[in-house]
Amino acid sequence: MNTLNKLGWSDFFESSLNNIDHQKMTIGRVSTVNKSNCIVIHESGSKTCELAGNLLFGMEENEKPKTGDWVLFLDYGDLGIISHVLPRKTYLSRKKAGKEIAEQIIATNIDYAIVVQCLEIGLNLRRLERTLVQLQNCNIEPIILINKIDLQITPDQREIMNFMENTYGAIPISAASQFNLKLIQSKIHSGKSYVFIGASGVGKSSIINAFHKESDLKTGAISQATNKGAHTTTSRELYVLNNGGIVIDTPGTREFGLTSSNAESSTSGFHGIDDLAKDCKFQNCTHTNERGCKVLKAVENGHISDEEYENFMRLNREMEHYASSTQDRKQKGKNLSKIIKNMKKLGYKSR
Ligand code: GDP
Repeated sequence: MNTLNKLGWSDFFESSLNNIDHQKMTIGRVSTVNKSNCIVIHESGSKTCELAGNLLFGMEENEKPKTGDWVLFLDYGDLGIISHVLPRKTYLSRKKAGKEIAEQIIATNIDYAIVVQCLEIGLNLRRLERTLVQLQNCNIEPIILINKIDLQITPDQREIMNFMENTYGAIPISAASQFNLKLIQSKIHSGKSYVFIGASGVGKSSIINAFHKESDLKTGAISQATNKGAHTTTSRELYVLNNGGIVIDTPGTREFGLTSSNAESSTSGFHGIDDLAKDCKFQNCTHTNERGCKVLKAVENGHISDEEYENFMRLNREMEHYASSTQDRKQKGKNLSKIIKNMKKLGYKSR
């Protein structure tokens, strides 16, 4: 495996070079995005790179390099100048915080997401389901971990844990006692890219450190007195692990807002509900009051809990809202450009 393959390079990216004259350029993968530059790893090391002027001013925010992107840059010694951002295989996005309906790309070219929750901060089924829906929208495979299993487990937590394990295949682990770490490590494959998702303090850095002793991530020591850990992760970066897996550690990725690149998708990310929905009498069933709705029937006979159904419907509504808002905005944009065109036709001059 050559260095680029080790960094995740594949035929998908190779084929995107066909239309680019790239002889004088270096191929690299963005490991960190800073305010005015990014760090790019390439065949012989890493380099601080800046965007070429035409990209800096001509690209939309989401088109600019993100952690995980493959780029081409011209090497000027101390500095590289990025001339191309290669098409993305996948990207992880979330709705921007606040009322604005906009998508924010967090990291790109990811094969798997390692979704971490932990006993200490609290297991949250709704948050997990929300994350799984978003990952499904992004075409990224989830691996779900419940960390800090060395701590005392309350009966309530035990119940949620059982549900997460049975329904979503969550794996209980402990970065501290190393419980099940080998199992997780066996799921990390050479040349594949993994992103860690989870609230600050759930133990993402500790898990990466346990896989990768030389990693320079900083992890606070476990406080013997309180079992409460310090929240220590500060920057987003890309690492190649000893076993060849590529890890992108995204700090503060607490909760996703929903964006749906595939608004018509009838899939929900909810285990079981998708299968039931396929058998509904009507193809466009909204699962609210239709005759022959298999989802409603499952709620009636207790196979799906009221809470799960409510969450499923809420997430669907959120996705619809996102889809219709983006549609609205596109329409408004079109209307505006029509008005401007007409004004120009009529000889309007800006004053
Ligand atoms: P991150 O913010 O998700 O990267 O979390 P860290 O890896 O920095 O961990 C936060 C705190 O939890 C640190 O003090 C860790 O030592 C502690 N921690 C991590 N894993 C475990 C574990 O398995 N058990 C216990 N008891 N503490 C842990």
